[in-house]
Amino acid sequence: MSVLDDIKELVEAAQKILIVTHENPDGDAIGSSLGFMHGLKKLEKDVTVFIPYINRMYDFLPGREEIRHELSDDEKFDLCIALDSSDIERLGEGKKWFDKAEKTIVIDHHITNQNYGDANYVNAVACSTCQNIIVVLASLEVAINKVMGTCIYAGMLTDTGGFRYNVQSETFEFVSMLLEAGVEIAPIYRNLFDLTTEARTRLLGRALERLEVLEDGKITYTYVTKADEAEFNCEDGDYENIVNYGRNIEGVEVSIFFREIEEGKIKVSLRANDYVDVSLIASKYAGGGHLRAAGFSISGSMEQAKNIVIDEIKKQLQ
Ligand code: 5GP
Ligand code: MN
Repeated sequence: MSVLDDIKELVEAAQKILIVTHENPDGDAIGSSLGFMHGLKKLEKDVTVFIPYINRMYDFLPGREEIRHELSDDEKFDLCIALDSSDIERLGEGKKWFDKAEKTIVIDHHITNQNYGDANYVNAVACSTCQNIIVVLASLEVAINKVMGTCIYAGMLTDTGGFRYNVQSETFEFVSMLLEAGVEIAPIYRNLFDLTTEARTRLLGRALERLEVLEDGKITYTYVTKADEAEFNCEDGDYENIVNYGRNIEGVEVSIFFREIEEGKIKVSLRANDYVDVSLIASKYAGGGHLRAAGFSISGSMEQAKNIVIDEIKKQLQ
């Protein structure tokens, strides 16, 4: 039996289904969760999506208002499905529910996935978890409609940086199907790539002011602190995308973005352009991701994190 058959069996046997995803959820995490929720509802399942916190930029997605930010301890689920999370720890609060569920499924596209479910559909060639959701829905014989398609398109769009990275000809065949289903692209694009807020813009400004360029222009880094985020009334997630400004500088190979999560804990985002494998570096520090986009958390002060990570990248460049 294939994994898709296993998934079908697990879904058919379940009634109460919980969908969880990784912490600091991005477009692919939220889009795949909502797209799959809408799809499973077509099979008359009782579906709950649990995501503790979501940035307001995703408010336009259909079904956003149904997402639960809290669950009470006495709730029980037959099946828990983890989307877009390469390991169980990254599920954050969702981990507890994944551990408690009778049965579990993992659907993901991270090469570093730990296959921690009863059934694991991990296709690392796919541009996004959303692309994998299209395949799983087809196997469940659910026809994708506009509502599902809008959520799925949002995840494909964001995880590929606007259909630039990790795309195959298949990706565009899937997109073609979504257009057939009635998905309107322009509003998704505007909500995710163009619309911003004053808080985001000011935080970006602060980060750009601090940008440093090292190693003959091959490495760039910047950082934001909790105090910066508080000063501009930022929401969690308002730092998303700052790392790409460094990456876009001509001649840069690796862009690093440091963010203070709490005192003594720093989140590191890495982006490479052509040849450095940043997923290797992230894996070394118990993180993960893709060849040219990866991340991890590190204990210590901002200064310590900078020294350790910059040294590590310098070694990779030699
Ligand atoms: P970002 O830098 O935007 O947070 O993440 C870039 C990529 O690295 C994403 O694919 C994300 O899933 C992965 N990633 C970021 N942080 C972590 C982490 O702490 N653990 C793991 N496993 N993957 C991460
Ligand atoms: Mn993803």
